[in-house]
Amino acid sequence: MVSRVIPVEPFDLVVFGATGDLARRKILPGLYRRFWAGQVTADSRIIGAARAALTEDAFRADVKAAIDEFVSADKRDAAMIDAFLARLHYVPIDAVGEAGWKPLKDMMRPGVVRAFYFSVAPALFGDLAQRLHSHGIADTGSRIVVEKPFGRDLASARALNAVLAQHFREDQIYRIDHYLGKETVQNLMAVRFANILFEPLWKSEYVDHVQITVAETVGVDGRGAYYDKSGAMRDMVQNHMMQLLCLIAMEPPYHFDPAAVRDEKLKVIRALDPVAPDDIVRGQYLAGAGQDSYVTHSQNPASRTESYIALKVHVSNWRWKGTPFYLRTGKRLRARESEIVVTFREPPHSIFDDTEGWRENVLVIRLQPNEGINLKVMIKEPGPGGMRLTQVPLDMSFAEALGEEGADIPDAYERLIMDVIRGNQTLFMRGDEVEAAWAWTDPIIQGWEARGDRPRGYDPGSSGPEDALMLMHRDGRRWREIRE
Ligand code: NAP
Repeated sequence: MVSRVIPVEPFDLVVFGATGDLARRKILPGLYRRFWAGQVTADSRIIGAARAALTEDAFRADVKAAIDEFVSADKRDAAMIDAFLARLHYVPIDAVGEAGWKPLKDMMRPGVVRAFYFSVAPALFGDLAQRLHSHGIADTGSRIVVEKPFGRDLASARALNAVLAQHFREDQIYRIDHYLGKETVQNLMAVRFANILFEPLWKSEYVDHVQITVAETVGVDGRGAYYDKSGAMRDMVQNHMMQLLCLIAMEPPYHFDPAAVRDEKLKVIRALDPVAPDDIVRGQYLAGAGQDSYVTHSQNPASRTESYIALKVHVSNWRWKGTPFYLRTGKRLRARESEIVVTFREPPHSIFDDTEGWRENVLVIRLQPNEGINLKVMIKEPGPGGMRLTQVPLDMSFAEALGEEGADIPDAYERLIMDVIRGNQTLFMRGDEVEAAWAWTDPIIQGWEARGDRPRGYDPGSSGPEDALMLMHRDGRRWREIRE
């Protein structure tokens, strides 16, 4: 299969926070990889901006070091790196002061796409938006990219939306949720809407339940104090898992375009029922396997913040009434694994005597690792022992199925930045979507805060607290095992 790389229009991309962790690990190496792939044209420029008084040469040396560290050796071609570094510039700038804005304005070129990536703390988003405007740097076609977290509750998200809206239209604002840039997450839409196989069965009549798991092996070490103010509900469920739920549950959009896709996602969020306290299990990892506990990492012995959460969620609409969605995510679990499991119901009538071997059809969509699809189907057990049934997997790894092209899937950030330049907002969250997600999340968090609920401890390397198993067992269901 031949890879199709279509170059984007020439651009000036200003990266605020260009010396920070995200820019160093993801944004700048990602831009280099797109340059290497031929998607970024030679007349495009990347302008780094931060307070540090770096020279352009010093900035280029930092970016070279980041490429060496974060780009695989097969793409690190000396001439290519030099050509990329020549596209880089740097301006010392203070988001909350006046220094640096005039030089930035002087650098901007007419006639190319103008984009501004806010890779800084959200508290600075308003200052950047306001100064880009007051200094006449943003034009009517400019785009801004804002990082998560987008608020920590409905009120702060609304305030952030309001401050950005003072200076930019909604179609200029790109709220990144890097989960939406993942190849398999987009494949959810392709699998659902480009095949006739699944969609007729995609409803509560045929789907018993859906599980969404995002399991991590890492703890919060190093950023425990920051994480303790957030927790798994705010950090993972309100954004990433909500987006996965939307893509699984939404109605077919009339067209694959930003407004249509985002309208359908919004309807799912609005159809979510409030979650009963009994349908939520929160956990904190304990010490073990030579590692400290969550409370040690968060430096807060009295912490009530969850590093794990499992919830049973209902989407109250015609399609999904009666089909629960079980979501779980946590840190320090047995394996790093993200997957969506759709478990189908029994056929209405069995013509076979063998019920022992019968199992439900299960569709597993693996987001990581080894992105792919696994569909469990029933067949006859081979041999002369009569009509006995057994289940086998139809297993497909995208990397294997797609050969070379599959092995070179762009990182989520690369894809999303290219979408910003193309002006395609389909994979970005709209303001009303973010607010609706917080409107659903807020009462859940307020509920456990008011009750003073404490998270249950769980062993590192396990699949989470025992109570989370019970959340499904009591419904006669079980979580798919998190496998090493
Ligand atoms: P970071 O490592 O702390 O970097 C912050 C950047 O902002 C630095 O370049 C810093 O440089 C610059 N900065 C700080 N104050 C400034 C000011 N007043 N004016 C101009 N520049 C200023 O943070 P990060 O981890 O890269 O995160 C950046 C954003 O991405 C945050 O919103 C974060 O929540 C989000 N995010 C990060 C990750 C990640 O993996 N790191 C993942 C998801 C989302 P100077 O100090 O030189 O000004």
